[in-house]
Amino acid sequence: MAETYELFAVKYASHQRTQGANYVDPPDPHEAMPMDYFVWAAVSGMRTFVIDTGFKAREAARRGRTFLRCPADGLKAIGVDADAVEDVIVTHFHYDHVGNFDKFPKAAFHVQDSEMAFATGRHMLEPRHSSSMNVDDVVGLVRHVYRRRVRFHDGDAELAPGLSLHHIGGHTAGMQSVRVRTRRGWVVVASDAAHYYANMETRNPFPVIFELDAVLAGYDRLLELADSPDHVVPGHDPLVMERYPPPSEDLAGIAVRLDAAPAKG
Ligand SMILES: [Zn+2]
Repeated sequence: MAETYELFAVKYASHQRTQGANYVDPPDPHEAMPMDYFVWAAVSGMRTFVIDTGFKAREAARRGRTFLRCPADGLKAIGVDADAVEDVIVTHFHYDHVGNFDKFPKAAFHVQDSEMAFATGRHMLEPRHSSSMNVDDVVGLVRHVYRRRVRFHDGDAELAPGLSLHHIGGHTAGMQSVRVRTRRGWVVVASDAAHYYANMETRNPFPVIFELDAVLAGYDRLLELADSPDHVVPGHDPLVMERYPPPSEDLAGIAVRLDAAPAKG
């Protein structure tokens, strides 16, 4: 029997915004289109992988985001103890994905070579790229390199049977998504390779972009990797909380099971 994972999304923050902030070409720029912030966890009998670590309350205040809970506390609510986690996948280095790396004292951090180069190199001279980074997080990850706690990957990589990384690029140079074998088949945690279902479905990208062509090719790649369009999980869409069931009633609004079939969108 092939190894399968339970797969969770944990919501830790939100932001009231409009379409203008979420599309290159917004159909109605002033129409409300809120954003959710997530971390994810893939759990099998053998291993636990945490995917991204979210931001801290301080960063939420600085950027005007609504902070709902510390991502580590949200993970604890689904039974994942940050103190014990050995593998954290960093999909990319934006502030909303790496901010709590210090809360995982035993973890190795899986990153793309190209993301470390992107976050520490010439592209950060451009505010359009650097404004989505928190330099203290980036420096913290560099320190982790010197502590031998970073695992570098160059392109696609299988981390364990049933769980692999896929370099997508586009949004950032080293953007990677995670493919996970679950009881309903191959699910892809896109992270910011697709912020919203609608970005992907209408091929109208989220406007924070490193390379546009790679963003568009990335949508195709996500669909190739997943068993169906319903097996692609976007990185910031509130519809994720609506379509998927909570692990238990008391976790409604906090976490959902991505290894369960979604309600039809
Ligand atoms: Zn993001």
